[in-house]
Amino acid sequence: MRLKKLPSEFQEALPILEKIRRAGYEAYFVGGSVRDAILGRPIHDVDIASSSYPEETKAIFERTIDVGIEHGTVLVLENHQEYEITTFRTEDVYVDFRRPSAVNFVRSLEEDLKRRDFTVNSFALSEEGEIIDLFNGLEDLENRVLRAVGVATERFNEDALRIMRGFRFQASLGFDLEEETFKAMADCAPLLEKISVERIFIELDKLLLAPYWRKGLEGVIASQSYQYLPLLQNSQLSLEKLFQLSMDYTFTSSEQAWAALLLTLDENKVSAFFKKWKTSRDFAKKVEQLVEIYRLREKASLNRRDVYRYDRNLLLSAEELRQAHGLPVDFQVIEELYDSLAIHDKHEIVVNGGMLMKEYNLKPGPSLGQVLSAIEWAIVDGELENDKKAIGNFLSHYLEEMKGEA
Ligand code: ATP
Ligand code: MG
Repeated sequence: MRLKKLPSEFQEALPILEKIRRAGYEAYFVGGSVRDAILGRPIHDVDIASSSYPEETKAIFERTIDVGIEHGTVLVLENHQEYEITTFRTEDVYVDFRRPSAVNFVRSLEEDLKRRDFTVNSFALSEEGEIIDLFNGLEDLENRVLRAVGVATERFNEDALRIMRGFRFQASLGFDLEEETFKAMADCAPLLEKISVERIFIELDKLLLAPYWRKGLEGVIASQSYQYLPLLQNSQLSLEKLFQLSMDYTFTSSEQAWAALLLTLDENKVSAFFKKWKTSRDFAKKVEQLVEIYRLREKASLNRRDVYRYDRNLLLSAEELRQAHGLPVDFQVIEELYDSLAIHDKHEIVVNGGMLMKEYNLKPGPSLGQVLSAIEWAIVDGELENDKKAIGNFLSHYLEEMKGEA
């Protein structure tokens, strides 16, 4: 089959293929971008595979960066674009089920395509627009089926991450898993315990954010794969609660997707949960706050102080989740409250501790902290203007009262 029109991303990269070819090697577009081009979906990262070895690739181009030379990948910088060029390779024995014990560079395209995960990910596209389809991927695309390349159990035994990738592609493409492929994924699921959690997180995160996340998640549940993921053992009933979200709902951020997951798990130890998943602390913090907001909202409408305490996006994100659960929402109230706040952070207050110590002769310590928070909350509550004079008056009263109490 020939692609009638090469998408512009490929057109722009044609001179790269041409250069490699003129140097005496083969080069093709490969991977997800070819699949997406055939499907008429938007293309991200154009990947190129070549028979040239890394050192040979580097000799062809003026500007290159070694990004993963041990895997055969060289980054080429040409006409303000970056292209990853990877040497054709095979991957043999996977000693730790995780990483190939050795990467073998080869000169044969076929060998390279054989080591790829699913038939629809194993196309190569030539300069002329010819699709090279060694494993009937075109038929599988047509039938919207994900099928492992070669013997399925062998492929998932080699690299169990492919199990999660399979569900992730289900979620992004909406395809079904071919029967043998699914069986092999379920059989090999225990091997997921050997895969680095960071890599699994990336796949599960992509799955949750994809349009057909329900389908992907159904696969994760049906194959029992969740039993081998951090802190998700025995979570089937909880995971299934996610299906109660309105049918067409898609998550609008990773934080939101994982917050929804943690809410269904009724997981209170959010930071411990993400420690196991080895995410960034910033990410864990945001999810934790989103869960907090959601729980606050279950009890009542948010007040000025709640709205002050949290980031605007998180507040609205929690509200979206409520909407997806069919619960009443307060988008407008929250936005109005947020906009009406005189400050959104204590650093916006026109005075600070240093100024107060100087002008009011206050000593550093807990009582200074108390004074500052009294000012902060009075401003947030709308009872005090964020203005030096107004704060001065407020302070005189406040300090008088403190004296009276003492
Ligand atoms: P996306 O469109 O989400 O980027 P993709 O198909 O391009 O999806 P990538 O993770 O970018 O997926 O990988 C690029 C290609 O490399 C895949 O299409 C597949 O051919 C191959 N590949 C990636 N990871 C694996 C793996 N673990 N096992 C086998 N082949 C893989
Ligand atoms: Mg890709």
